[in-house]
Amino acid sequence: MKRLIALFNILLAIEIILISVSGFFLYSEIKKASESSSRHLLFTTKNILLHSKHFKPLKQVGSVKIEFLKKPQETGFFERNNTAYLIFKRGKEYIRLSYTFHLNKFVEDILNLLGLLFALFTFLSLFVSYLISVQSDKVFKYINEIIKNIKNDKKPEFPKFKDKNLIRLFYGIKEIYKTLQKRNQQINQQKERLNHIINSMSDGLLFLKNGNIELFNPKIEEFIGVELKDGLNLLDCCQSVETIEFCEKLLENRTETFEYKLSNMWLFVNKQQVLDGLLIVVSDITEQKEYASIKAKFFADASHELKTPITSILGYSETILDSEMDNDTLKKFLKYINVNAQHLAELIEDILMLHRLETTRTKEVKSCDVDIVKEELGVSFSKFASEKGIEFIINCDVDKAPIPCGYLKSILFNLVDNAIKYTEKGFVKVECFIENNQFTIEVSDSGAGIQKQHINRIFERFYTTHKGRDRMLSGTGLGLAIVKHIVELYGGDIEVESEVGKGSRFKITLPSLT
Ligand code: ADP
Repeated sequence: MKRLIALFNILLAIEIILISVSGFFLYSEIKKASESSSRHLLFTTKNILLHSKHFKPLKQVGSVKIEFLKKPQETGFFERNNTAYLIFKRGKEYIRLSYTFHLNKFVEDILNLLGLLFALFTFLSLFVSYLISVQSDKVFKYINEIIKNIKNDKKPEFPKFKDKNLIRLFYGIKEIYKTLQKRNQQINQQKERLNHIINSMSDGLLFLKNGNIELFNPKIEEFIGVELKDGLNLLDCCQSVETIEFCEKLLENRTETFEYKLSNMWLFVNKQQVLDGLLIVVSDITEQKEYASIKAKFFADASHELKTPITSILGYSETILDSEMDNDTLKKFLKYINVNAQHLAELIEDILMLHRLETTRTKEVKSCDVDIVKEELGVSFSKFASEKGIEFIINCDVDKAPIPCGYLKSILFNLVDNAIKYTEKGFVKVECFIENNQFTIEVSDSGAGIQKQHINRIFERFYTTHKGRDRMLSGTGLGLAIVKHIVELYGGDIEVESEVGKGSRFKITLPSLT
C-alpha cells in the first residue's frame, strides 16, 4: 500500500515536471517565432507603405491590419496577446500595423503530444488511485466485518495478506481482539461470581435508580413476596396493600435503617444512597425478634419459678426463728426447707443445662456405652419405683448410643423420672433398640397419662399440667424442654402417645453416627 502511494506520487510529480518543462519550452518557442516572423512581416509592410507613392488608406495588406491613430500611447514594435504591433508616424498621422500570429506546426505537435502525455498520466494516476481505493476498500470491508462479528459475539476471521503493512495492521487488530476477549472473559467471570454471591446471599438485595429496578436477588423477592423485573418501577411489581406500603417505604429516597413487620416476618431494612441510586439490603430478623421475646419470657418465667422455693425457704426459716416449736415441728419445717432447697438446686441446674443447649452451635460427636447409663438408671430409680410399688423394667441390648453419655443420661433420667412420678401403679418400662438404622429409646408407663390439650405444650419451658403447690412438687417444668433440645441437636425426633388414665409412651429416635 505504501509502495503504491509512493508510485502514485512519483507519477504525479513526473507529470507536473513534464508539463512545466513543455510549457516553458512552448512559451519560449512561441515567443521566438512570433518575434522573428511578426517583426519581419510588420517592418516589411511598413517599408512598403512608406515607399509607396500612391498610398491609399488601406485597411489590410495581406494578414496585416492597418489602422490610423491620432495620438497613440506608445510607438514602435511590441507584442500583446498573440498579436504583434508596429506603430509609426507618417506625416501628421500615426499608423498602427497589427498581425495576429498562429502557432506553427511544430508547436501544435508538441502541444498535442503534451495533451496526450497529460491524458496518459492522468489515466495512469486514476488507475493507480483506483487500485489504491480498491485495496483500501477491501481492507475497510475486512475491518468492518471483524467489527460486526465482534459486536455480535461471533469469532471474527482474520484475512491473510502478502503486504507487510497489512499483515502488521491485522496482527495489531487480532491482538486488540484477543486482549478484548480476555478482558471480556474476566468481566464475565467477575459478573458471574458477583451474581453467584448476590444470589446466594441470605439477605435481600435491591438496587433502585429513580425508583426503577436495576439489580435484585431472589431473597428480596422471597421477603417482599413478589416477582421483580429489571427496569420496572418497584411499585409496578407490588400488588397487595401490604406490599405496596412496604415498597413505598423502600422507595423513599434517603439513607436510613428501620425494622418492618411484613406478613409474619420481621425485616431489618438498610437503605443507602450510593452512586446514582439507592442500595437496599433487607435482613430477616424474625428469629432474633422471636428469640428476644422468648428470652424475655424465659427470664420472667425463670425468676417466677425461682421465687417460689425461695419464698418457701424464707417463710419456713423465719417461722423457725420467730417462734418456739417442738422438735417434731422443727424437723417438719426443716424438711420443707430442704425440699425447697433441692427444688431450687434442680431448677438452677436445669436452667443452666437449657442455656448451655440453647447456646451450643456445634454438637459433640461422641457415642456412649449404653450399659454404664443403664446401670446408673437402675441404681437411681429402682428404689423410687419400688417405694411406689411400680414394676421398673429396663430392656436395653444396644451397645452404643450415638450421643455423649451426659446427654443420654439426661434424656433417660428426665423421661423415667416423669414416668415414675406420674404413675401410681403398674409399670415403667425403658427399651432401647435399633430401628431403621436409628437408635431408638422408648419409655412407657401405665400412669396418669396426659390430656390431649397439653400434649403439644409439654415440651415448652416451665410448662406443667400441675398448678400451685403441686406444681413445685411435680418438678421444674424444664425436663422435657431439655430432652427436646438434646434430640434436636442430634438431628433426632421425639413422639408422644398418651391416654388419660392408661399411661404414656415417649419414643425417641436418633440417627446413627456417620
Ligand atoms: P416437670 O418437671 O413438670 O415434670 P417436664 O417438662 O418434665 O416438667 O414435664 C412437663 C409436663 O408433662 C409435666 O408437668 C407433666 O404434666 C407432663 N408429663 C411428662 N411426662 C409425663 C408422664 N410420663 N405422664 C404424665 N404426664 C407427664
